[in-house]
Amino acid sequence: MIRKSFLIYGVVQGVGFRPFIYKIACKNKLCGFVKNDSEGVELEVEGSEENIKIFEEQLHAQLPPLARIDTIKTKELEPLYEKSFEIRESSIYANNAKTALISPDIATCHECLEDKKKEGKYHNYFATNCTNCGPRYSIIKTVPYDRSNTSMDKFAMCESCLEEYKNPLSRRYHAQPISCNSCGPKLSLWHAQSKTAIDETDIFKKVADFIESGKIVAIKGIGGFHIVCDASNDAVILKLREFKNRPTKPLAIMCKDSVQIKSLACVNEKEEELLTSKEAPIVILKKSLFSYVKLSKFLAPNIDRIGCMLAYTPLHHLLFQYLNTPIVATSANLGDEPILTKMEDIFSKLPFIDFVLDFNREIINGVDDSLLQVVNGKTQTLRLSRGYAPKVIKLPFKSEKKILAVGANAKNSIAFVMGNNLILSPHIGDLDSLKAFEYFERTIETFKRFYDFEPDIIVHDKHPNYETTKWAKKQNKELVEVGHHLAHIYACKAEFGLSGDYLGFSFDGTGFGDGKILWGGEIFVGDERKYHFKPIKLLGGEKAIKEPRRVALSMLFDALSLEEVQELDLACVKEFSPENLKLLHQSHTKNLNAPQSSSVGRMFDAIVSFSDIAQTISYEGESGLLCESYYDENRTRSFNYAITDGVIDMKIVEFILNNKFDKKELNSMFINTLVEIIISISKKEKLKVILSGGVFQNKTLLELAACGLEKENISYFFQQQTAINDGGIALGQAYFCVKNNIG
Ligand SMILES: [Zn+2]
Ligand SMILES: [Zn+2]
Ligand SMILES: [Zn+2]
Repeated sequence: MIRKSFLIYGVVQGVGFRPFIYKIACKNKLCGFVKNDSEGVELEVEGSEENIKIFEEQLHAQLPPLARIDTIKTKELEPLYEKSFEIRESSIYANNAKTALISPDIATCHECLEDKKKEGKYHNYFATNCTNCGPRYSIIKTVPYDRSNTSMDKFAMCESCLEEYKNPLSRRYHAQPISCNSCGPKLSLWHAQSKTAIDETDIFKKVADFIESGKIVAIKGIGGFHIVCDASNDAVILKLREFKNRPTKPLAIMCKDSVQIKSLACVNEKEEELLTSKEAPIVILKKSLFSYVKLSKFLAPNIDRIGCMLAYTPLHHLLFQYLNTPIVATSANLGDEPILTKMEDIFSKLPFIDFVLDFNREIINGVDDSLLQVVNGKTQTLRLSRGYAPKVIKLPFKSEKKILAVGANAKNSIAFVMGNNLILSPHIGDLDSLKAFEYFERTIETFKRFYDFEPDIIVHDKHPNYETTKWAKKQNKELVEVGHHLAHIYACKAEFGLSGDYLGFSFDGTGFGDGKILWGGEIFVGDERKYHFKPIKLLGGEKAIKEPRRVALSMLFDALSLEEVQELDLACVKEFSPENLKLLHQSHTKNLNAPQSSSVGRMFDAIVSFSDIAQTISYEGESGLLCESYYDENRTRSFNYAITDGVIDMKIVEFILNNKFDKKELNSMFINTLVEIIISISKKEKLKVILSGGVFQNKTLLELAACGLEKENISYFFQQQTAINDGGIALGQAYFCVKNNIG
């Protein structure tokens, strides 16, 4: 007879871990107890040595789906000769060190979907859930994850739910959001214009009818409201685009099942795995040329991709009983503001909404849908949010100090380092609006509350005008500044736990560089920038970012006189009146409001302008997507380029002036040249390679670069589980501190 204690850390609370321990302890005839403590799970087992050994094996082999063990500490104890095994209540948080990790929200599991179909208390219940699925982060006010600390606290469990909640052998043992038709939250349907309630009978049939008849409905989900309409209806989508002031940015759709998705897009094995995973993200897929499902051409105009996700709550599944076409399901928000979580805000901020489907379980923490794609057989994360975040990265050592990394201004997320955990928040968004900035501050407060966290060090971007930088400087804490483009490289190092020197390609939009030049096409050896693209003057500063024609024109001015440019038969020149051309030329020669930038993102702009695909754009990354749409793998030519003293000069204008070309040729050549440059520098530097920054969201570029590096037997890394764009900056900032022993 021996007794052994275990302290287990990782994702072990609120994921069915204690009942799992109870089950395997009883199965192996062990006595003792299991309980949650502030840091994880504590348990003691007593029995024969052999049975304890089997118990330990099963502990690792049969873990519940959402649980994850990071570390286990064990100790042998004197036997107490107990008679049974029990689950004990959480201990009081004596040491006040709250570090138990919070699990993200998870799509409805198959068993819950079956329960919903059966007669009984879960029949057609829109919020059916269990320990293996359902809302988590979105309903938590503070830890420990107990019902009283969630927005389910106001719903008293009925007798039957309480029985399941208390039964360690039930799938719903301690499922904090457990509820049913008789005791749980209730649905309500509203006329958005008159703010009056509509009778709830056949509620899903009614909502489906509204959608099919071309109405716009706001539907409450896990982390916020979706704006929903018929994905095949051109008129309603154009109306939505006009109201949202979103002329071309792709809209994601939600489908009934994978059969439906496969009938409208090309889905490979890896993509299907992601679509049907417990995280249920939006996956960007290639549109099918022969779609069996009618889809509006205005969903993702001019590009060959479409973002699809599967129904992921019982509510969605109930709605799809009455719908045969996919629905547009885009986050309900105003411009760049955060996702709306309250019906009153839908009424006041989105006047174009016709109906609202609401329920009275409050969303405490808003979370957007996550956005992923598959590149070269690997996952690539474009937005880390519902299902994945808060995300924990284990550090191989403990940080002495508590670090808060505040991230970038666009696609913001924040990161926390405490002990050996690096915790990444869900996507917060672009911080240009006051509402978004409030949401940023609120998220910091939320995490501080979750973990009793007070930072010793705050790490921020070098950009003095980032809202995050300004905020950091007001906090009266020790500050650390990390260059934006190096932070991209460190984000990749963080995900893979890399140390030492790498060759880092940081290709991005325009970001703060050395004070004189905006960076965005930088190549690092270790922490030193060794190469960069030849800077282009951005005529009109900020304006140039929305107007590719200004970038193209600037490149022409680099090579030719004003008179020579005026003579050219190029669309980007004809876009401007002779007076404007003159003014822009002056701004070019005299460096007036013409900051220089080495950004690869801006070079994509120039290419779409030179090939006259777009002269102005309406969302970040649009040029990259357009360029990809015109990529033709049979076009193998590339531009000449020279590398002098680390400055890479791609001879785009030289080619344009001396050759005939079409749209496909120019766009293919540009991507081919970038790939050639990556391969040639990698061969020269003989280091392992990191590819990071927003430009690498370009699937064609990343795929070709990856294949090229593989062919040359060069090891390379790109972020898979964390955002490769500015959503990963906070992660890189935090890891920079950790790796450089600051903290
Ligand atoms: Zn479930
Ligand atoms: Zn109930
Ligand atoms: Zn960036």
